[in-house]
Amino acid sequence: MVFRLLAALLLTLAPLPVLAQNAGQQPLTVEVLRTSEGSLNANIALIMGREKAVLVDAPFTMADAHRVVGMVLDSGRELETVFITHDHPDHFFAMEVLTEAFPGVRIVAHPTVVADIWRSLPLKVLRWSPMLGPNGPRMPSAPTALDGNTIMLEGHELRILGPMQGDHVHATALYAPDIDALFAGDLLYNGMYMWFGEHGREEIAAWGEAVADLTALDAEIVVAGHSRPDLPNDASSLIFSRDYIAFWLGAMEQAENSTELRAMVEQRFPDAIDALGDFILGNSSRISMGEEPRWEE
Ligand SMILES: [Zn+2]
Repeated sequence: MVFRLLAALLLTLAPLPVLAQNAGQQPLTVEVLRTSEGSLNANIALIMGREKAVLVDAPFTMADAHRVVGMVLDSGRELETVFITHDHPDHFFAMEVLTEAFPGVRIVAHPTVVADIWRSLPLKVLRWSPMLGPNGPRMPSAPTALDGNTIMLEGHELRILGPMQGDHVHATALYAPDIDALFAGDLLYNGMYMWFGEHGREEIAAWGEAVADLTALDAEIVVAGHSRPDLPNDASSLIFSRDYIAFWLGAMEQAENSTELRAMVEQRFPDAIDALGDFILGNSSRISMGEEPRWEE
């Protein structure tokens, strides 16, 4: 499902100095593709200028990557850059489809994220390729390390935030000040169980602090890393993520085992969804209760 955001309208409410500063520039617009459950309902955002565009993340499956190619082609823009937010395969695995479709594109990430991906790529291929079969990448690879903390799109600055603790220890996000838009990667979820598979109490609490920092940006457009498909790209993901983390930390204290923890979370968030069966809530609750080792990849 594709949601179109009229980000340009926001500029009409902006104070005069901002309008003057952006004179002659095409305001950026944003389109978000909700990937399938097979790609864990990850969100892929296309940030568009007049003629060029930047994509935030690449899907897990080849099928969803082809859908993203369709979104880019329909936009009529030239895809200049793909920014990968973090080292989880549902945010970069099928990026070869983008390289094949758009040979001039550069796929980039923070240097720490690039190092993470090269380290864990063999483990990820071992774990996921048998399950994905032909829907998985044929030539799994990693992005190129970015030099500096910004990506420019037709004169508009896109600022890289992080790395900080999210569902991965080195999560990054992209912020577009000209349209007050936050592309949060897996620092934010909305209406979906959150991944605590690489976390102890301390890391979950640190993630909560990162959510508070992002909330302070007061962004108008907020694209979460994962959403229930019917939810909007707005501040509701900040509230959901904050409340979910706070509840989980409390429930971890009260629950005797993963079955109890899971039941408490399901009761508190009855409309939240999972992906790949009960992959997220099942693993997260067992790992939080010490019944399964933390993932190292
Ligand atoms: Zn993810």
